[in-house]
Amino acid sequence: MGAVFRSGRLLEVIFPALCPACDGELGGARVGLCEGCVGQLLPLAGPGCPSCGRPVSGMEEFCLDCLESPGPGDRGLVWGEYQGVLRRALLALKHGGHDELAPLLADLLSAALSTCSWISKVDIVTAVPSHPIHRIRRGYSAAELLAQEVAKRLNMKYSPILRRRGLRRQALRSRSERLSLGSKDFVLRREARVKGFNILLIDDVLTTGATMRRVVGLLRRADSGKIFTAVLAWSAPSGSWG
Ligand SMILES: [Zn+2]
Ligand SMILES: [Zn+2]
Repeated sequence: MGAVFRSGRLLEVIFPALCPACDGELGGARVGLCEGCVGQLLPLAGPGCPSCGRPVSGMEEFCLDCLESPGPGDRGLVWGEYQGVLRRALLALKHGGHDELAPLLADLLSAALSTCSWISKVDIVTAVPSHPIHRIRRGYSAAELLAQEVAKRLNMKYSPILRRRGLRRQALRSRSERLSLGSKDFVLRREARVKGFNILLIDDVLTTGATMRRVVGLLRRADSGKIFTAVLAWSAPSGSWG
């Protein structure tokens, strides 16, 4: 009887695996999202700004923000809008411990990246690092998992070249010091080599773009080559880079 209870089959009957996006039963040995939810994962319908990847309207080639000042990287891609199933899947990955969703979401991003004219120029794939407290809470970083899976699919080198400063170091500073810290909340890892390398920087969600700009600024100061950005979901319907 003990062997039966230990069997995965019986556990499946008692606790069927559920789709993290709709709570429906996944069924069989399926991992990730249910078929219905996968069908609702849709990329941006129209063209994206070549500089930042956000959708552009009308006949504009670049978005208004990138026309005013250059985008964060040299070229950028945004896969979809942060809503519906994509939003729920990302929340499950980022906060629900559903790291099994990373390969599925990386499939989407890497398929889109493989059609970009610049993708062959990339030397290193890396991620915008999440705050250490999130990593401790979840045990992983959603953006790093995505970046690793994307690199695997594109046969490219993944390297964790960036680090985000932790709470302890920040907590030792006064409020005014913390505010003036600005772009210094990200640092290059000691062993990182970026000089002259073209870098693909991956993040899960783009909100104002301020974080991406800070990281890109750091890489530029370290004399990196071209910087490309790829984000799974864009969340601001009409905001600007903050
Ligand atoms: Zn579902
Ligand atoms: Zn743009």
